[in-house]
Order: sequence, then C-alpha cells, then structure tokens
Amino acid sequence: MISTKRPQTHFIICIITLLTVVFLFACQNKNLNSNNEQLDQQQQPEHLQESANLPISNSPVDSTIEETETVVSEDILRSHKVNELGQVMILMYHIIGDKEDEWERTKNNFKNDLKTLYEEGYYLVTARDFVSGNINVPLGKTPVVLTFDDGTEGHFRLIEKENGEFFVDPDCAVGIIENFAKMHPDFGSAASFYVYYPVPFRQNDRPEWRRYKYEYIINLGMEIGNHTFGHEFLNKLTDEDVQKTLVKNIQATQKLLPDYPVDTFALTYGIYPKNKELAVKGSFEGFTYHHKGVFLVGSHPAPSPYSIDFKTEAIPRIRAASVPSDFFHQWIDYFKKNPDKRFVSDGDAKTITVPESLKDQLNENNMIDKLIRTYPND
Ligand SMILES: [Zn+2]
Repeated sequence: MISTKRPQTHFIICIITLLTVVFLFACQNKNLNSNNEQLDQQQQPEHLQESANLPISNSPVDSTIEETETVVSEDILRSHKVNELGQVMILMYHIIGDKEDEWERTKNNFKNDLKTLYEEGYYLVTARDFVSGNINVPLGKTPVVLTFDDGTEGHFRLIEKENGEFFVDPDCAVGIIENFAKMHPDFGSAASFYVYYPVPFRQNDRPEWRRYKYEYIINLGMEIGNHTFGHEFLNKLTDEDVQKTLVKNIQATQKLLPDYPVDTFALTYGIYPKNKELAVKGSFEGFTYHHKGVFLVGSHPAPSPYSIDFKTEAIPRIRAASVPSDFFHQWIDYFKKNPDKRFVSDGDAKTITVPESLKDQLNENNMIDKLIRTYPND
C-alpha cells in the first residue's frame, strides 16, 4: 500500500519509519548496554557489537532504508507469534521406497509429509542455510529442513525412454519435492542430500548421469553435504583416516561440481570420531575442511541457530520414518499445541525478531550483519 503513495508522502513515511527504527535501536542498546547509556547515535551499532557481543549491521540506518516499507507492526508480529528463537524440525530420511521401516519411508508417506508440512505453515530451507542463519522464509512461516542420508536411488532416479531421452522419476524424492513445489510455490524446494561414494544415487550403469543429477539438485536450490567417502564408523578410524574420508568426500563432490562448497556433515550412524573436533574441521594432504554444521541422528527438533542452545557440532535431527515411533507426527502435533515453541519467521532474512521476554537467549553466532528486533509479547 505504501508504495502506491505519492513520492512526498512516501518520503515522509520513510523518515518516520526510519526514526522508529533508530528509536528501536536506542531502546535495544539501553537494554543490552547498561554500562554505556549515552551513546552518540552514529556509534550505536559499533558499541552494541563490542559491548554486548551481539553483532548488528554496521550501518543499520543505511541498510534499513530500503526495508522500511516492509517493517511489520507489533500487532502483526504478535498475531503470527513471530519467534525466531523457536525450535526447528530437521527431518532425517533414508530410503524412499515401497515399505515403511526404521530406515525407509514409503513414497506415499513422504508425499503426505510434504502435504502436512505445507498445511501446517512450514517452509523448506537447506541445512546449510539453517546453520548459517540465512533463513529466508515468509512472514508467519516456520522453516523445516529435509535431509536425506546415503544417496540411495530412491532419492534421485532418472528414467530413460525408448528414444534415449530421460526424465526425473516423479516418485523419487527429488521428483516428489519438485512437483510439490510446482503446485505450491510458497513452500520452497530445498532439501539436503548427504551422499557417500563411489556411486551417489546409485544407478551404477549410468556414470554420466551423476554430474547431471548434481547440477539438477543445485538448480532446484537443494544442497549436497558430506557423509564420508565410504560410510565408515568414524569411531573406529585413526584421526588421519577420519580426515581422509571427509576430505575425499568433498573432493569427489567437487570433481562433479567444481568449487562446490560442502558446508554441512551428517554423521554416519550418528557416531562421532574419537577426536570429536575432527567432525567439524581438519585437513588431509593439504586439503582443509570446515563444516558449518554437524548433524546427529535422533528424535528432537533443533534449537534456533540464533539461540544460546545452538551447537554447530551437534545439531539434532528427527527420524521421519514411523517405525519404531512416529516422531514426525508427534512433533507436528506438539508444535500445533505449543505454537510458542516453534520458530516463526518475521519474513525478513536480515532481521532477527524475537519476543521481548526471550531476548536473553540470543547468542552472537550467526547474527553477523543481522538486525535484532524485539517486541512485547503480551
Ligand atoms: Zn548413512
């Protein structure tokens, strides 16, 4: 509505909103920085950054000018229960196939999972974007991460026609997500695939399809992550071999996708190496790696990446298959009954918005170049 007003009115509204933003910063600064109450307005962001350890944009005034038209009112934030410190479900899938088992989800159940998530206000993001705090989700929606371990054929299968042309199997994970996203563009099409080698997504007889599949995945906004080279038990390897298998995975991926950043790692069997730090970073023969996130096997949602509870090296995932226990629907129901517990986006990836009462739970990670906004929640 604002954008349709005459330029002069538009300008005045921008100035008013700008002053409001500056005022909000002043208030926040007062809250966070009790030792330094009287700050020069221009210096506020730097002082905030240094004294409160909460990285905030170096130039909030400049960077918010363009965004002033999208600043939403506190009433809207309250009505959507916006809370970017809420929990996030990171769902873990293995085989997408014909039966329901501990490590297998049927195609139909997976399709129903997408439908349920969509209807319950979720929006797909990659594991990389989640751990990076780059959560670009519409106002009022909750991010959810779909992760697929092991690069099995049901994740991404191509089918060849008699004339030699081929197409994506509409019943493999990539095909199901892509088709759902075409029907529901307000759901996104992100997913993270944790592959190992030598043959990601199987179909061993068609090595020429591997690069095609990787490029296809990237073009859909999906991610390829580390799952070791040979799916080893990392606790049984020497430190050197742990680093070797993680580096070899990245190198094999980059052979198909040159310079591709492999940023996240799903622990094979959910087991850490003896030297836990090597799950995060290390090197082999001069090639270094540094995972932005290490994912576990489990049954609980993850803390927000902006929360003091968030740990880069130990991010929980929820097993989506319904055997032995239907965690997926248990957590869907939990967040339905406890909307205050779930991450709800403010619709602006550059701003972190949380209810006033939770601001003490913000940490400094993943908040570089972000603005922080709080609002009274009662
Ligand atoms: Zn695995």
